[in-house]
Amino acid sequence: MMKNKIETLELIKKYTVSGPRYTSYPTAVQFTDSFDDALLKRSLDERSQKIIPLSLYFHIPFCFSLCWYCGCTKIITRDKNRGDVYLDYLEKEIKLVQKTIHQKSPVKQIHFGGGTPTFLTPVQLQRLGKLIHSGFSVHENVEFSVEIDPRRVEEDHIKALREMGCNRASLGVQDTNEAVQEAIHRIQPFHQTKTVTELLRKHGIKDINFDLIYGLPKQSSSTFYKTIDDVVSLNPDRFAVYSYAHLPSMMPAQKLLNENDFPSTHEKLSMMMMTIERLPELGYEFIGMDHFAKKEDELSRALENGTLQRNFQGYSTHAKLEMIALGMSGISQGDNLYYQNEKDLARYYAMLDDGKLPIKKVLSLSAEDKLRRTIIMQIMCKATINYDDFAAETGLNFKELFSDELEMLKPMEADGLVLLLKDRLFITNPGRLFLRNIAMVFDEYLKKKTNRVSYSSTV
Ligand code: SF4
Repeated sequence: MMKNKIETLELIKKYTVSGPRYTSYPTAVQFTDSFDDALLKRSLDERSQKIIPLSLYFHIPFCFSLCWYCGCTKIITRDKNRGDVYLDYLEKEIKLVQKTIHQKSPVKQIHFGGGTPTFLTPVQLQRLGKLIHSGFSVHENVEFSVEIDPRRVEEDHIKALREMGCNRASLGVQDTNEAVQEAIHRIQPFHQTKTVTELLRKHGIKDINFDLIYGLPKQSSSTFYKTIDDVVSLNPDRFAVYSYAHLPSMMPAQKLLNENDFPSTHEKLSMMMMTIERLPELGYEFIGMDHFAKKEDELSRALENGTLQRNFQGYSTHAKLEMIALGMSGISQGDNLYYQNEKDLARYYAMLDDGKLPIKKVLSLSAEDKLRRTIIMQIMCKATINYDDFAAETGLNFKELFSDELEMLKPMEADGLVLLLKDRLFITNPGRLFLRNIAMVFDEYLKKKTNRVSYSSTV
């Protein structure tokens, strides 16, 4: 049963705590820099023996100017030559990574993120495209996406991206209101977003996502309502609408924002509620967490047929891909092993100069980690856990094994967020707003309270 607005707001207030976003389980805070080199080498050697589908992530860290809300790993510079140097090192890294994969492993997914991937010039992008196509077996139906800053892209960038096979783009918009843009130090006139969207489509990059953020300075429900109407007029296929997380102690750029300009908690929640109501009215289905997609989009279909996945880039339609991240700070995610590259550019370069993979932190997953990962990902992607299916997959009795967790879910059942049925745990429609809270019940590390860090709000 749907809740009315007041009831939902009350629940949001009750359940808003800080918690992980579960783009992985265990989360990146569990990675350690005191790891066993021999174990890492063995895992990568084993990977090189198997033909497994791959997802490649390339982190391009440079940006021309600082957006004050930013929490990404980036370097602000206007020196384009730094792109050439960075590509020299990516080339070294690709050669080292090649030794850790089977040469026939098909690359089914590629993503360029940052920073600003189009900090690279069209010629530099072409060089990166050649490195990828000569270094890996790129599948003919690869899903190839790029993050685009509409303020920093020319038609030649788009041509270069399309030539190397790019077929998806995610545009950073955040908000179309000028006062908000000034307050966050990101001036992006709407016509720029419109022109770039049209250019992407003209050159065949037709699957378009827009990123928006609510909770920024100078925003209100009415300004954000207008933002949504503005961007929907450009007819994107997907939206990611994030709640702004103010964590200035971890993200120093955020100290530049004027805290007096932030919307109140009530106003921020109203923006969230309005988004959840408004986007479906405009034809976008709520996928989960912060994601919306048109009914005919692959994400909506994956949600419907139970094949939705979650990884470090958010929701995805590809199952069981070994994700390999290249570039400083990139996080790789395999079945048994997660690892993160060095975040400091000079040290990232130095490790590659020494002929070493620039891996800084590692997490080797235990059997318990993998079991809880299965559960948490089912909560995030399928909103249900069928106990017979769980037993068929794992040979284990869910109700017996997780009796404590089921007990902990009872207050959420009383609030109408979950149903604890005889044969399954089911997350209700109102409960889909609280996926992170429900997943947290199964997070062993939160119980142990290891590596306490500041997470963003769960709702
Ligand atoms: S928000 Fe994007 S463009 Fe702005 S500083 Fe961060 S990474 Fe760069």
